[in-house]
Amino acid sequence: MDLKNKIRVIPDFPEPGIRFKDITTLLQDGESFKYAIDKMAEFARNQNAEIVAGPEARGFVLAAPLAYAMGLGFVPIRKAGKLPGDTVSVSYELEYGKDMLEIHRDAIKPGQRVIIADDLLATGGTIKSTVRLVEELGGVVAGITFMIELSYLPGREKLNGYEVFSLVQY
Ligand code: 5GP
Repeated sequence: MDLKNKIRVIPDFPEPGIRFKDITTLLQDGESFKYAIDKMAEFARNQNAEIVAGPEARGFVLAAPLAYAMGLGFVPIRKAGKLPGDTVSVSYELEYGKDMLEIHRDAIKPGQRVIIADDLLATGGTIKSTVRLVEELGGVVAGITFMIELSYLPGREKLNGYEVFSLVQY
């Protein structure tokens, strides 16, 4: 199935010079959305995943149906101050400034095999922070899956040593 064809590229969003990969056009096509989740589930099953985690907000859109499709639990990773329970946090550099991600301290058990899902791998900063949170709780990152990989950026290098799977590459 041609998923790339369903992704809309929007020039100069959110700022001039950036060609934003808009996945909403893929998500609104039921057949493509199902195919994408099924492919991710195939990858995740091969990694013997036990639980699925995803960063807000677009990571939720993929990680939650992926968990459901596999009959596994879903763990949300959120921006600072959103999770109500006891959390572990990590801050990371953005192009301009810093951001912080958090996970509930009791969300993942030591040794549990975790699949991480997000929409897009660019520099890898976001997903590396997610990996750090999972590992800080003693989780084992069994695999990382994306809808889109920007292969002209060094995201995959940052994830050296991990099983990385993407559906569409630019
Ligand atoms: P990174 O941290 O790898 O540099 O950036 C990836 C994160 O930024 C992802 O969580 C993703 O949601 C967001 N992102 C950056 N560029 C794009 C884009 O062109 N399209 C979409 N859908 N998300 C993007």
